[in-house]
Amino acid sequence: MRISDILSSSAVTLSFEVFPPKTSDSFDSVLESAKNIAALRPDFMSVTYGAGGGTSKFTAEIAADIQNTYNVPMLAHLTCVSSTKETVLSTVRAYAEHGIENIMALRGDIPADGKIEKDYEHAYQLIEDIKSCGDFCIGGACYPEGHIECVHKSDDIKYLKQKVDAGCNFLTTQMFFDNNIFYNFLYRAREAGINVPILPGIMPITKARQLKRSIAMSGTNVPERFYAIVDRFGEDPAAMKQAGIIYASEQIIDLIANGITHIHVYSMNYPDVAMGIMKNLDHILTGRKDYLSL
Ligand code: FAD
Repeated sequence: MRISDILSSSAVTLSFEVFPPKTSDSFDSVLESAKNIAALRPDFMSVTYGAGGGTSKFTAEIAADIQNTYNVPMLAHLTCVSSTKETVLSTVRAYAEHGIENIMALRGDIPADGKIEKDYEHAYQLIEDIKSCGDFCIGGACYPEGHIECVHKSDDIKYLKQKVDAGCNFLTTQMFFDNNIFYNFLYRAREAGINVPILPGIMPITKARQLKRSIAMSGTNVPERFYAIVDRFGEDPAAMKQAGIIYASEQIIDLIANGITHIHVYSMNYPDVAMGIMKNLDHILTGRKDYLSL
């Protein structure tokens, strides 16, 4: 099923993200976690491509397995900056062969040694190539606080519009911990003529060290209120997990209360975190009771 069709509904939707394993040794345990998340019946799930330490070669396999077993529509990520056109096009064909019709088109981070292939500079070029390969539903990334490499937010929005015009059907944001940042971004995006659905990406921080890593990677602003939670509960794993799930759930409730209906959760590979969020929202996600059977 195309994600654009899911997003055209006015019902509240919730999607979860997983990442592939680093090595084949942990493939089975990652697939098991992804399946436990799929058993919660999210509206769709995404599998990253080489992010979070995962290996891109497993993305298609995990996405196809979950889609076939649980009938949960899958979004397979794809990055381009470290790939040749040939590799990208063969990956797109492999996605199609696995029955995947939704692709998250990303540039990818520039490697620390600065070495990149010459075929792609930006995600919009990847989007053009995916479109030339078939009728895919394409997602793109956006950054409410501006992409870390972009000096001026106005340029970031200008390039985002270019990316959407190249053929993005929807956008998903980088994590943020203050919803006002998202509302402000949404206003600026709409003002710039970006009219596709924009899904807020919510990252439940359930371990103190995860916060440091997330900020270093994204430059995301962390409210004092959240620092206080990490200071107070960071040394107590169970308490930190509970507080992180509740913080993310509160963000989601505020978003829904303000008319944002489609929410993407960076559930990593933690079924208990995905489940905790769904439980906190059970009356809000009406009619979605399957998780109780887990
Ligand atoms: P782009 O859209 O190309 O933008 C990158 C930078 O270039 C921005 O600063 C932008 O303003 C600028 N820019 C864009 N177009 C132009 C232009 N025409 N001229 C000049 N400048 C331009 N990484 C992974 O490795 N694997 C994943 O699975 C993954 N999933 C992600 C999912 C989401 C929802 C998000 C938000 C990020 C994800 N990332 C992933 C990280 C992403 O690859 C990085 O943030 C990367 O640095 C930028 O990717 P992009 O697709 O946004 O790039």
